[in-house]
Amino acid sequence: MRVVRGCDWNRCSFCGIYDLFGTPYSTRSKEEVLMDIDALASLHGDIFTTAFLGDANPLDLPAQFLVDVLERLREKFPRLTRVTAYARASSLAKKTEDDLLAIREAGLDRVHVGLESGSNRVLKLQMKGTSHKQLVEAGKKTMASGLELSYYFLLGLGGQDLWEEHALESAAVFTEVKPHFIRVRRLFIHPMSKLAGKIAAGEFREQTPEGTVHELRSLIAALDAEGTTFTCDHANNYLPVHGLLNRDRQALLDVIDSFLALPEDRRIAHYRSVPSVI
Ligand code: SF4
Repeated sequence: MRVVRGCDWNRCSFCGIYDLFGTPYSTRSKEEVLMDIDALASLHGDIFTTAFLGDANPLDLPAQFLVDVLERLREKFPRLTRVTAYARASSLAKKTEDDLLAIREAGLDRVHVGLESGSNRVLKLQMKGTSHKQLVEAGKKTMASGLELSYYFLLGLGGQDLWEEHALESAAVFTEVKPHFIRVRRLFIHPMSKLAGKIAAGEFREQTPEGTVHELRSLIAALDAEGTTFTCDHANNYLPVHGLLNRDRQALLDVIDSFLALPEDRRIAHYRSVPSVI
């Protein structure tokens, strides 16, 4: 259910997804969104079991707007078992705990938040518009509200120069917040993104395939996040490791170490077999 169009931030240098696909940011009136929900229900009946609030950051809307939309969704589609949305940490940080609690009680189950990095230098370089401190505060507030929190980590975002700090500072945020999920993605550089321009200008040295594997290892080794589900659940990950922290941390490290112990030609063949996709 589209409650806003595009991304209100739209500045991250590695992204540009809405620009590239021609969707400038714009808001919708609450009445229009509620009419869409009613129309969907009369067209299809009560057939949906999950729902997603689009597009990039509906949590920037006023809490009452979201409460009204969620209540209408739950009323018209009582079989919904999960309602999710993307959210920026800066928008979650602006909400009070009561706001987030009201949004959860109205029917939102989970927010997917692009942490990307816990390093202030990487966040600034990539124009993410947040900070290590804000990622911790927004994360803790979200967890306290009872919403499920899924944080995304982007391998390669620090390039060859900041990779270690990128992994360790991200692990520090995850360790403080202990989100429900850490989901790992590998940086995909779209040729039309601002980051592609930085590479061409020599301002960013792209991480190597093997470098991302070392990055993943450093991240996992530094994590202390009891109860967090760790998952590399995207086709562009070189090593699709999954597990529950802290129980499975050593098993995840063992998978990575076994891979790194393979002969170089087999590792290179593996890197070549994995697609670079968004
Ligand atoms: S990464 Fe997310 S917040 Fe950044 S521009 Fe893209 S959609 Fe917006």
